[in-house]
Amino acid sequence: MASKNKRLLWLQSGGCGGCTLSLLNTEAPSLFTALADIGIELIWHPSFAEQSLDEAMHLLQRLADGSEPLDMLCLEGSVMTGAAGRFHLLPDGQSMSTLIEQLARRASQVIAVGTCAAYGGISAAGDNLTGAVGLDYAGNHPGGLLGGHFHTASGLPVVNISGCPTHPGWVLETLALLASDSLSAADLDPLGRPRFYADKLVHHGCDKNEFYEFKASATAPGQMGCLMEHVGCKGTQAHADCNSRSWNGEGSCLTGGYPCINCTAPDFADPGHGFFSTPQVAGFPVGLPTDMPKAWFVALSTLSKSATPTRVRQNAVLDRLTVPPSLPKKGKA
Ligand code: SF4
Ligand code: SF4
Repeated sequence: MASKNKRLLWLQSGGCGGCTLSLLNTEAPSLFTALADIGIELIWHPSFAEQSLDEAMHLLQRLADGSEPLDMLCLEGSVMTGAAGRFHLLPDGQSMSTLIEQLARRASQVIAVGTCAAYGGISAAGDNLTGAVGLDYAGNHPGGLLGGHFHTASGLPVVNISGCPTHPGWVLETLALLASDSLSAADLDPLGRPRFYADKLVHHGCDKNEFYEFKASATAPGQMGCLMEHVGCKGTQAHADCNSRSWNGEGSCLTGGYPCINCTAPDFADPGHGFFSTPQVAGFPVGLPTDMPKAWFVALSTLSKSATPTRVRQNAVLDRLTVPPSLPKKGKA
């Protein structure tokens, strides 16, 4: 029996639109084919809509007052609550934050797409003059626009697909699960992120793992060595599957030579230091793997450094593999 398509409304507020740009990198099938295949009707998106402004405003009003049903609401970008919401006004003078709240309370499923919509993200960094918050979080703390601990009528909290930007696969997989009513609160981690990607670490599958094991470190972005010790990599603490689910069919921040800045975490935008630097105490990085006692890390690190093969040490500070692994000596397997 054919099931009814779910009606999805996509809104953008305080953000850069990068999550939509990332989503457009969906390939084989394309984004719109994929949405149709998983049973979603995209009723409006500010970048893709064919409706006129009047038609769009009329639609938003009908959805907000309940005269048209709304299954899924995706918000991209933070909610700017400063100055009583006047940093983002609709053409009719209503604040966007008011509309978002009305729609969230109508929708059966509410999805924050990107770290800004989930927690405030880059938009809330620094002095945060616009009062940017996430839908149900302000940074690490429940709160945000909806007050914290929000649930839809169907009992689901806000689904936080955090990431800056989000991987198109994270968004489509989440939407597919929601469209088939196969995502429950138990499938979200304590920060509301879908566990299928948030229960993994960026460090898993990084092609710099041999360098990490021997603590053979890069000293600048673009070098082959591990970027944790000197270049700010937080891949051992970052909850995401970026090195096992490639981006654009190619790789990740790490394969591009950049450190992971933990963009799926609520407060990633305010690290208290430059993104490309690693704060250290007594020569050891401050941010260590979350589930490893510091004393073990220090002991293992010291041991590893004393056993680093020359090949690994030399390649670590070069921008391409220069010293190849040696062949077994003749007569040995
Ligand atoms: S560069 Fe980062 S993600 Fe890669 S091995 Fe080092 S710590 Fe792990
Ligand atoms: S590797 Fe880290 S910074 Fe890059 S997208 Fe993944 S979680 Fe974000």
